[in-house]
Amino acid sequence: MQLKRWIMHVDMDAFFASVEQHDHPEYRGKPVVVGGQSGRGVVSTCSYEARRYGIHSAMPMAQARKRCPQAIFLPGRYDRYREVSGEIRSIFHTFSPKVEPLSIDEAFLDLTGMEKLVGDVTCLGPLIKSRIREQTGLTASVGLAPNKFLAKLASDLEKPDGLVIIRPEEAEKKIAPLPIDRIYGVGRHTALALARIGLHTIGQLAACDPAVLRPILGKNTEIILNCAHGLDDRPVIVDEKRQSLGREITFEEDLVTREDCLAVLWDLCQQVGWRLRSSQLGGHTATLKIKTADFRLHTRSETAELPMQLDEEIMYHIRRLADGFNWQQPVRLLGVTISHLIPLSDQETDFFGETTRNRKRSAAIDALKQKFGEGIIHKGSREP
Ligand SMILES: [Mg+2]
Repeated sequence: MQLKRWIMHVDMDAFFASVEQHDHPEYRGKPVVVGGQSGRGVVSTCSYEARRYGIHSAMPMAQARKRCPQAIFLPGRYDRYREVSGEIRSIFHTFSPKVEPLSIDEAFLDLTGMEKLVGDVTCLGPLIKSRIREQTGLTASVGLAPNKFLAKLASDLEKPDGLVIIRPEEAEKKIAPLPIDRIYGVGRHTALALARIGLHTIGQLAACDPAVLRPILGKNTEIILNCAHGLDDRPVIVDEKRQSLGREITFEEDLVTREDCLAVLWDLCQQVGWRLRSSQLGGHTATLKIKTADFRLHTRSETAELPMQLDEEIMYHIRRLADGFNWQQPVRLLGVTISHLIPLSDQETDFFGETTRNRKRSAAIDALKQKFGEGIIHKGSREP
């Protein structure tokens, strides 16, 4: 029997503007507009307070200024947004190994089969929202449905801070009253053409003879009709090469000794290892990132035949990379990233002769982290 599919779509609310309001409490509750500040700049995101003035993304900045001169206009800090996006991505991976990012602030997660672990998959909706809020202070809108089309549509229905679940048996009825342009691929132009033959809602479209639609929808007729019936069998596509899982830390005061740096790296390896294991992932490439006091960024990578997942396996490679580095300069930032990820259950690797012992120790520690949170235990400040 085929497993019932469950797809989650997570979309951050007014992402860039929300990050600014989070980082600058004085912006909260105020219209914030992020985007190009030059003559021909456009709005990339604006806060919900700014939307009340009719400002929306892709609007020319000059027009936004006219609509709400008192708004806070910001050029955007894209490094910061990418950093937060990375944190959110790590949260996604603790929910599913199958994550398909659509952009910096939204992704599909395939939750099919998770009922074996959690009973009712729909409980993961509120859980991921609270996890994101706890870790980043931001709100997300979530759609949970049997396919991508319905999940994305659902996440948009109650924005911001929305959570909409569409169960397979109710899907067709639930979407029937919605306007046709809620279906992706149906733009304003097509929607107008359909309106001219009396079709306004998804339900009306679903009931229509394909022969009538073909002159308007052309080669997309079948796909759009399927969507109108709540059907979509596109898989969640995981691009392993692009995926990575990493942690980094910037120091308030530069670190000066190699030993201090290695202790921090061991801690980062434990954080990354924990994330890999809890998302049942392993990775072939370890990357060490070092920013020295002169602001120069050094990255070194090493790719292994067998995927890494245990803290000790990751540290083994990070230490080798660290050994090749000249630790003369004070260090501002350290980072550990594992990439070329693959799905990996926690029994599959056998890297050291010691693996079984490490594996058992890891499993015991992970069980504690699972129960009491990641901060509960560390393997000591000295690296192995
Ligand atoms: Mg968004």
